[in-house]
Amino acid sequence: MRKWLMSLIALASLAIGVLISSPAVHAATPNYTITTDTTFPPFEFQTDKGDYRGIDMDMLKEISKRENFTYKLKPMSFNAGVQAVQAGQVDGIVAGMSITDERKKMFDFGTPYYKSGIVMATTDKSKIKGLSDLKGKTVAAKTGSAGADYAREISKKYGFKITYFNDSNTMYNDVAIGNTVAAFEDQPVMAYAIKQGTKLKIVTDPAKGNWYGFGVKKGANTELLKKFNTGYAAIVKDGTYDKIVNRYLGKGSYNYKKNAADKVEKQTTIWSLFNENKSALFTGLVKTLELTLVGIVLAGIWGILLGILGVMPSKFARGLSTTIIYIFRGLPMLVLAFFIYIGIPNLTGQKIPAFTAGVITLILNEGAYIGAFVSGGFKSVDSGQLEAARSLGLPYGKAMRKVVMPQGIRLMIPSFINQFIITLKDTSILSAIGIIELTQTGTLIIARNLQGFRVWLMIAALYLIVITLLTWLSNWVEKRIK
Ligand code: GLN
Repeated sequence: MRKWLMSLIALASLAIGVLISSPAVHAATPNYTITTDTTFPPFEFQTDKGDYRGIDMDMLKEISKRENFTYKLKPMSFNAGVQAVQAGQVDGIVAGMSITDERKKMFDFGTPYYKSGIVMATTDKSKIKGLSDLKGKTVAAKTGSAGADYAREISKKYGFKITYFNDSNTMYNDVAIGNTVAAFEDQPVMAYAIKQGTKLKIVTDPAKGNWYGFGVKKGANTELLKKFNTGYAAIVKDGTYDKIVNRYLGKGSYNYKKNAADKVEKQTTIWSLFNENKSALFTGLVKTLELTLVGIVLAGIWGILLGILGVMPSKFARGLSTTIIYIFRGLPMLVLAFFIYIGIPNLTGQKIPAFTAGVITLILNEGAYIGAFVSGGFKSVDSGQLEAARSLGLPYGKAMRKVVMPQGIRLMIPSFINQFIITLKDTSILSAIGIIELTQTGTLIIARNLQGFRVWLMIAALYLIVITLLTWLSNWVEKRIK
């Protein structure tokens, strides 16, 4: 038992060490944290080298140079990004974000920098020629976007339904494969995607014309907004801004999809695709493992505590344990993650780094399951054992610690191994709060090369390999403990 305790303490210190030394925790070191969309070319997209480029990205970089500030970029879905700004989790958003009257109530925007409007796109051979052909059909829109608002506004009039997607690529793909008949998207973005080989065509004139702006939470980060505006004025004045726009939209401009497509030509096998992206995949995998290990160790400790509380003589302790387990086993993990990452900071105004929020989510969710099987394990030790120990004169606490618990813990080992594997899989949910773990890495790679089938196959295989290795390791440990 003592040895057990020592190894548990050692593991916990390691876990806390990783948590504290995690780069995400030091997100405050650069001056600002700025969010952007996962993929919204030509404004933002990840290149095959893993860096973020596009009009917004190049503009931000130039402005930061001129205005002497540094920033850490946190790409996430547009919708999560908007919420992250409101929660104070990030300082600003540059994501081809439309300045709308609705948003002006919650955001302060910088100088408008690009004029846009919303168009509808269908497949090349579609029979849908305009809005009036949409009756009874389903269209695609991006969650939280101005395009989605517009679609909702006119959906009654034209009698169509809407399906929502978190990123533009998945949305285009849905239309291309025929699940939905059309997509509502910003004109420059749709036109660019088509020019780069997306097999859709625009069938309406731009509607709801609006400008893009850099956004901060209303009343917050005035300094950053000022710097942005001053820097923006400077790059407009010296022609840098035009150069940036030309870089992506001018003649002979950078064709990121063609670049990727050329590479994809060469990537005829999964193996070559893997080779091309191995550094991104490796970084994603490491993040997944970090989350899993830190998560399971801390959740293990929390769960054991809950389990012990659940078998204490005190009614209050048992009630407390049951309530906590009830709440956190009942909440979907995604809701819990958003509640911690977006909800709590919204209330307290205190930032919680994504990695920390992810680990807390794992602790609460996995910990509840662990608590349940730990107290179940203790309860399943034959009650005669406790009675015998007590009749030998051992006080309750000692009888539990020396007689009941060691037997109970042995029964629980398979459940712990199971929970370990579940935790690893559950980390993929944390991609939603912008942690670039293995699943999010897959999304980013697909946004670039549109190789949906191969990339997801590869990601699935990676999860399976790691899970197999971890299962072997756990079985080995199990044998040694027994
Ligand atoms: N311009 C749109 C909006 O602000 C879409 C932005 C985006 O999807 N990144 O809602």
